[in-house]
Amino acid sequence: MVNPTAVAHDGLTIEDDWSGFVAGRYREGKSQAEFRNYDAAVVPTVAQFYKTNHELQTLDFVLEKEKEYLALKKGKMSIWEAAEFLNTLVDDSDPDTDLTQIEHLLQTSEAIRKDGHPRWMVLTGFIHDLGKVLCLYGEPQWAVVGDTFPVGCAYSDKVVFPEYFASNPDFNVARYQTKHGIYEPNCGLSNVHMSWGHDTYIGHVVRDYLPEPALYMLRYHSFYSWHQQGAYQCLTSEHDREMLSWVKLFNPYDLYSKGAAKPSVKDLKPYYDDLIAEFFPNKLDW
Ligand code: FE
Ligand code: FE
Repeated sequence: MVNPTAVAHDGLTIEDDWSGFVAGRYREGKSQAEFRNYDAAVVPTVAQFYKTNHELQTLDFVLEKEKEYLALKKGKMSIWEAAEFLNTLVDDSDPDTDLTQIEHLLQTSEAIRKDGHPRWMVLTGFIHDLGKVLCLYGEPQWAVVGDTFPVGCAYSDKVVFPEYFASNPDFNVARYQTKHGIYEPNCGLSNVHMSWGHDTYIGHVVRDYLPEPALYMLRYHSFYSWHQQGAYQCLTSEHDREMLSWVKLFNPYDLYSKGAAKPSVKDLKPYYDDLIAEFFPNKLDW
C-alpha cells in the first residue's frame, strides 16, 4: 500500500492500488452493499484520488485539455518509443513484484492473443495504456488514470464515489446538471466530452489506423459506469450500444491478466514489431 500523500505526486503510485480496487469493485456477483463497503474504507488512497479527480474534472478543464492534446503537437514517437517512454514511470514505493507498464501491456495483449482474437485486438491490448504518457508530460494522476465519466451533464450515481461530485464547481451550474446537460438525447459518445485521461488521448492518437471496435476499446476502457453498470443510456446512440460488446470483451483482459507469468519483452518483441508495422506508420503524432 502506498502512502496516501503519494497521490499528490505525478508518478503512477495510485495505479496499482487503483487497478486492484477496480478488480475488486467489479468482481462478478458482488452485491450493492459490498460495493459500498469496498468503496468506503478499503482503499483510502483510491478514495483520496477520486476526491481530487471528481472535484477538478470540470467541463472547462476537459475542453482545455482536449484543445491542448488532441492537436497532437507533442511530437512524433513510434509505438515502441511511447512504450519505453511510459516504462520510465516506476513506482519507487512499491516492491519489485509489480509489473512494469510494458509488462502490463504485454500481459493484456498476450491474453487476447492466446484466446485467438483478431490481430487488431491483440495490438489494441498492447497499446491500450500508452495514453499514460500524459503523466510524463507533467499531467497529475487525477487527469490521467481512474474511471472516466461524461462532463457537462448530471453525474450518475453509478460512477465510483459519486458523493465527491458535490465539490465539483460544475455541480452548481444548473445547465450542466440536467439529465442531458449540454448534449442532445442519445447524441452518441463521440459527441460527449469525457473526463480527461489516457483513454481519450490514445484513442485519438491511433484513430486513423485501427478499426472502430478497437477505438471504442481504447476510448472507453475506463468508462466503467457505462460498460459495467449500464449508466448514461440517455447519451449513447444505437451505434454505441452495438460497440459496447467489444468494450466489454476487452475489459477482462485489462483487469484480470495481471498475475499471469511475467512476459518476456525480448522474446515477444519480434512478433509485436510485425504487428505494429502491419497497422501503424513508423512514427505517429502524439
Ligand atoms: Fe487504462
Ligand atoms: Fe490497463
